[in-house]
Amino acid sequence: FALDIRGKVVAITGASSGIGEAAALRLAGHGARLALGARRTDRLEAIATKIREAGGEVLVQALDVTRRDSVDAFVQATVKQYGRLDVLVNNAGVMPLSRMADLKVDEWERMVDVNVKGVLFGIGAALPVMHAQSAGQIVNVSSVAGRQVFPTAAVYCATKFAVHALSEGLRQESPFLRVTTIAPGAVESELTSTISDPAMKREVDEVFRKDMLPADAIARAIAYAIGQPADVDVNELVVRPTAQA
Ligand code: NDP
Repeated sequence: FALDIRGKVVAITGASSGIGEAAALRLAGHGARLALGARRTDRLEAIATKIREAGGEVLVQALDVTRRDSVDAFVQATVKQYGRLDVLVNNAGVMPLSRMADLKVDEWERMVDVNVKGVLFGIGAALPVMHAQSAGQIVNVSSVAGRQVFPTAAVYCATKFAVHALSEGLRQESPFLRVTTIAPGAVESELTSTISDPAMKREVDEVFRKDMLPADAIARAIAYAIGQPADVDVNELVVRPTAQA
């Protein structure tokens, strides 16, 4: 079967590395017109150059998803460039794991700001555009940690459980909208770089994450959900490494 992606306007948050970068490259390969947002614009520019050299269309914009005005500006720049927004991929996320007793309250706040408020700001910016179009798709990148709680991950899991709840609530209220939650297992990326305790980072890197999927495995799941016909809403995809418990 063919994926219906060519010409679709897709905005991706956190597109400067890992899953967001892989999704940008894969969707560009399918002919999507892209808007890429993240804080590291040098990384975004390098990805955009690759996409343009292959004949793709891409807009790059500095984006901090913890700032509502920044997310609004990202969506508005996309609509200005392409005249519409078909898909918003709320992918940006951070995972500074720690035990709650360590009281890394600043990191708890950061996770809520990026992983929950960032997604909400994305939905808030995109929804009026998609409502006016009577069509659109929100793809929220959650995690298996949005379905299962792990030690050291209480706050991270709480933020990802929230992403599932927001997606499902949005879906129920919005018949014109396709809403997809992607829940990856362990994936190669820079995600553990946000763990501030070196021993904890080593433990996560060495023990729990040795059978990781390449980020493109999740990009393929995102492409599958976006590429379905307009009357098909893929609500949730859980994608784990085969060897992950
Ligand atoms: P990476 O660390 O490689 O990518 C995270 C992305 O988020 C980066 O592009 C980063 O860009 C961006 N980001 C972080 N903070 C902000 C911010 N304030 N504003 C805008 N962008 C921001 O990790 P992954 O690719 O793994 O993570 C992508 C998503 O996948 C996350 O939501 C994560 O929770 C989820 N996930 C990952 C799994 C894994 O095993 N890797 C498993 C399950 C879910 P920049 O720093 O340039 O702003």
